[in-house]
Amino acid sequence: MKVISGATICDGSGGPLRQGDVVIDGEKIAAIATPGQCVTADAEVINGAGLMLAPGFIDAHAHSEARMLQHPANRTKLLQGVTTEVNGNCGSSPSCVPHASGTYCWQSLADYAALLNSLQPGVNSVVLCGHNSVREAVMGNDQRTPTAAEMASMKALLAAALADGAAGFSTGLTYFPGKFSSLAELIELTSLLKGTGKVYATHMRSEGDEIEAALAEALAIASAASCRLQVSHFKTISERNWHKLPALLARIEAARASGLEVFADRYPYVYSCTDLRQALPPPYDRIPGIQQFLRESAEHQSEVVAALSRSARDVAGTILMEAALRGRTIGAVAAERGQSAEQLCMELIMAVPGQRAAFLGMSEANMREILRQPWVCAGSDNVSLHLDDPNDFGHPRAAGTFPVFFHMVAEALGPAEAVRKMTSLPASVFNIPRRGLIKPGFYADLVLFSPERYASHADYAGNNQAPEGVQMVMVAGKMAWDARQPAEVGRHGRFIPIPAQ
Ligand SMILES: [Zn+2]
Repeated sequence: MKVISGATICDGSGGPLRQGDVVIDGEKIAAIATPGQCVTADAEVINGAGLMLAPGFIDAHAHSEARMLQHPANRTKLLQGVTTEVNGNCGSSPSCVPHASGTYCWQSLADYAALLNSLQPGVNSVVLCGHNSVREAVMGNDQRTPTAAEMASMKALLAAALADGAAGFSTGLTYFPGKFSSLAELIELTSLLKGTGKVYATHMRSEGDEIEAALAEALAIASAASCRLQVSHFKTISERNWHKLPALLARIEAARASGLEVFADRYPYVYSCTDLRQALPPPYDRIPGIQQFLRESAEHQSEVVAALSRSARDVAGTILMEAALRGRTIGAVAAERGQSAEQLCMELIMAVPGQRAAFLGMSEANMREILRQPWVCAGSDNVSLHLDDPNDFGHPRAAGTFPVFFHMVAEALGPAEAVRKMTSLPASVFNIPRRGLIKPGFYADLVLFSPERYASHADYAGNNQAPEGVQMVMVAGKMAWDARQPAEVGRHGRFIPIPAQ
């Protein structure tokens, strides 16, 4: 028996904070008692005085499926107090399709789950089945409607993943090959969720110029499938679209009032982070082999340079995240080289496939307004990074989302509401059983931290440092991380299969 004694308990429900002792028996919380009442001679006592005890945080939006096989400890998330990640977002879920190359192979999500469990991950993993992975497995990057046989194959893959415990279906409709899919295709696939209680999570077809149509499409899909909708990393990209937020919020509130369950996740930063090629406007955004296209002729290159000046992205203000230019804007590097930002951007897209960049284009005021909505939970939209490897860098949201989110929401709505959005809210959106609350019978996934000292030290220049202020993280009743022995990590996470309801 373990007792975490004397902490301020923030139980994840959004209810008032209270003083108390949390008693843990094995993997679960056994009781919440008056301070001192349950401290017996044989109990292992963890002193929580002066600290806040919350349910382990749940990252509603992660992309760590493949990374967890390389770095199972997942310290990037664990050291923020995250004990569960929801992976397979934005249509990308390698775990849900057969994988036959590299160190590890699997045939199904059940296979992947067994593999992950055998590697003893540091945090729990929930997986969504991703449309891009399924479509690519069946029909490559083809820009066309699936045949009846291909549709049947995609449905079989999705049905198998759902049967193996996938929490729902995700799409990434600005990426290949999802961007080639029609509304009819998406409705047909999402309809497999009908009656399961599972969620449709979408990186919408547009988060900028066409966002109204994209939201209408997401609502139409969820309503046709009678399922819950999760809008991924909800935002309004590009200053010319910032004014659209009130109408979008009203549209979502109207859908909620009509009985549709609509939720969203959001990271607390105004820079996004994705492939640099996402700067390309139509029609160049639809060319899968863009490097090849650019290398073909100087005309192609100048066409793309001209097109980039129409991009919804702020090309010059974009921060580069790869190797030598890390942390610098395209505008600054271009000025130094005596070329235009668009020219440099085109050259970088041509030279380095898949390079990531941080795009400015979101409004701070809109972000705070989105975070205030009671149906918006925390999601980092990032992979687990290898904290000790300076070459494994990324957007600061990877190592900083949770402290930054906590303070931004706590400032507006108080710490109990901030913690609810990081725990029980995502647990209910994804139907994660017995997690997200400090409650008898729930898993003892817990974080003991100092709200005052909880702060991120990650930045755009590639510092992935862990935040400060976390004292202890527990997963299923076992010590996962203790600030007194910071180099040690206990790996007690597991794959969490989500049953149909
Ligand atoms: Zn996304």
